Amino acid sequence: MALISVVVPCYNEEEVLPQLYDELCRVAGLMDYVDFEYCFVDDGSSDSTLEQLRGLAGRDKRVRFSSFSRNFGKEAAMLAGLEMARGDFTAVMDADLQHPPEMLVEMYEAVKDGEYDCAAARRVSREGETAVRSAGSKLFSRLMNALSDTEYVPGATDYRLMRRGMVDAVLSLREYNRFTKGIFSWVGFKTKWIPYVSPDRAAGASKWSFAKLVRYSIDGMMAFSTKPLALSSVLGVVSCAAAVIVLLVTVIKTLIFGNPVAGYPTIVSLILLVGGLLMFFIGMLGQYLAKTYMETKARPVYIVRETERGLK
Ligand code: UDP
Ligand code: MG
Repeated sequence: MALISVVVPCYNEEEVLPQLYDELCRVAGLMDYVDFEYCFVDDGSSDSTLEQLRGLAGRDKRVRFSSFSRNFGKEAAMLAGLEMARGDFTAVMDADLQHPPEMLVEMYEAVKDGEYDCAAARRVSREGETAVRSAGSKLFSRLMNALSDTEYVPGATDYRLMRRGMVDAVLSLREYNRFTKGIFSWVGFKTKWIPYVSPDRAAGASKWSFAKLVRYSIDGMMAFSTKPLALSSVLGVVSCAAAVIVLLVTVIKTLIFGNPVAGYPTIVSLILLVGGLLMFFIGMLGQYLAKTYMETKARPVYIVRETERGLK
């Protein structure tokens, strides 16, 4: 029988874990034609998530877990889970039941014969989401598609079931600044998109503030595009051209009409504009440099403290 690994990143998910586990067991019952293993990753939770995972692993040998030495973020947790997974197929799913485990049935149908390499959930609408957040998410997918060559499907989630070949491809990207949504798309392969309506979180609170989401979006764009760096050169050329034109006009005007009127406000606003643009682009350059700096350090993306086999 084929083995499906289900990777679940968990950060302070004590309230939903029991429900999630029951639901996973129910789905495993529905899909009795495959074997399952559950790869939970405790991303340095400060609640009872780890104790619960120890308990589950003790009772059910399908349950495996890795627990981080501190909170490393969802990207790191997903990577750890994918590295843990031993299945012929591997699914990545949120712990909060916003990614309904039952969709695995349909996903498996798409990938089992190799017709598709990956079946992924595409959110068509989301309960309990504010207008600002959904507008932000639309803007992000537009920008991402404009800036990078990686195709970004609007509403794409991390929830997906992949064939081993695709998992290995995802793992072969060893970058430190991981933006998994982009990586999934970058590695290519045939993906079937399954639309679904995302329910509200089963319990607990979202770990993402609006500011954190904005930061994450900027990181994602920087990880997959260097076009912003070229923008400063373009603007530089435009501003040089403008300067030459203004110079010529001034010279001609002076020759024809004599000394022109002093343009104090114009000069001040131009200095401010040019100064501002310079600062902006130096700042952006710094951001890319900082990313490069972190990449060259080649630090591990996460550190494991404990697994189902005990302390490391
Ligand atoms: N998560 C994680 N580490 C973090 C933040 C989140 O492993 O630092 C996990 C979290 O436990 C959940 C998933 O990532 O399983 C998605 O998080 P959440 O539901 O808070 O995000 P949202 O659905 O609001 O985008
Ligand atoms: Mg969620």
